[in-house]
Amino acid sequence: MHYFRTHTEINLGAIRQNAAVIKAYTGKRLIAVIKADAYGHGMICVAEALSAVADMFAVATTEEGMRLRQAGIHKPILILFSSLTEDAPQIVEHELTPTVADWEFASRLNEIASRTLKIHVNINTGMNRSGVHWTEAEQFLNRLKTLEQLEVEGLFTHLATADEVDKSFVSVQRKRFSSVLASNRVKIVHAANSAATLAVSDSHFDAVRPGLSLYGVYPASEKPIALAPALTWKARVGWIGSISETEGVSYGLTYKASRQTRIAMVQVGYGDGYRRALSGVGEVLIGGVRCPIIGRVCMDVSVVALSDTAKVSVGDEVVLIGKQGDAEITVDEIAHRAGTISYEILTQIGRRVSRIYIEDVGTETSLD
Ligand SMILES: *Cc1c(COP(=O)(O)O)cnc(C)c1O
Repeated sequence: MHYFRTHTEINLGAIRQNAAVIKAYTGKRLIAVIKADAYGHGMICVAEALSAVADMFAVATTEEGMRLRQAGIHKPILILFSSLTEDAPQIVEHELTPTVADWEFASRLNEIASRTLKIHVNINTGMNRSGVHWTEAEQFLNRLKTLEQLEVEGLFTHLATADEVDKSFVSVQRKRFSSVLASNRVKIVHAANSAATLAVSDSHFDAVRPGLSLYGVYPASEKPIALAPALTWKARVGWIGSISETEGVSYGLTYKASRQTRIAMVQVGYGDGYRRALSGVGEVLIGGVRCPIIGRVCMDVSVVALSDTAKVSVGDEVVLIGKQGDAEITVDEIAHRAGTISYEILTQIGRRVSRIYIEDVGTETSLD
């Protein structure tokens, strides 16, 4: 096999299983969110892996939708955010399902569609980042009825606090959304992101719309179903050295050894998406043992301290996220140490990190 200084192993079997478990738990249709390159897992491969279990895919941009169509994905593809009017021709040509929340975009779509185009309308019930305000929804939906080529297939909203323990604002948003639903019947009503899918069953409506949980990562402490993490991130040991008391390590010499210390360079840095915020606080696994990152994470490499007795050689496997022996470092742990959230860690794994796809632990299927 070709040598990778750093790579991820993505278990498509785990993603498929998570999707099936979520579908069985909710008993609803599944809109699989695969935006931002499927949260760093590879959008096309994930879409292909989920083609039998997902009822619809959701992306954030017209371009993501076009890439899926060009890769031969035929399932309905919802664009979660309203696009600019300039995107209308691409949306119609690639038979994408746009989210509509303004009149100008709607009329442009109606103008160029040569047959019925399904659209979803996003209702802003309090997230306040997109959508038609819930008090103006009735009027907007009535006006849309005059556009003959458009069929409002879906109505949706997005919850701002479903991952919090206090669910009171979730109820406020649900009531506002329900008031719009009372006088407007459509085929697919949806509201639940991963947090609501796992913790707010009265937000499931006709379909759930999870992203993070498909990849086996929980958005909050509620864990009503067992999900399997799909991604393991590895690197290799590139150099081994030793420093004496008072010597420093890496830019700025921010780490100072208090005694003779064996150290190893690991071939991953912030240029790969291994965050600089992990300087001095991150840990990695080598030989099934936790080793602390010492000094600053560099663009291409990082340095860790080894125990006096560890048997480590250049070329050894380092696990940044995932399991090695009995030890495990989760995405949540890395995110916590770096002062961010799992979503940001996953979506920032860099282009320089090769993705290797496996179906189950141990079986390689393809490279990209
Ligand atoms: C990203 C996104 C989701 C998925 O959220 P997760 O927390 O990853 O499950 C669902 N709906 C909308 C509108 C989104 O932008």
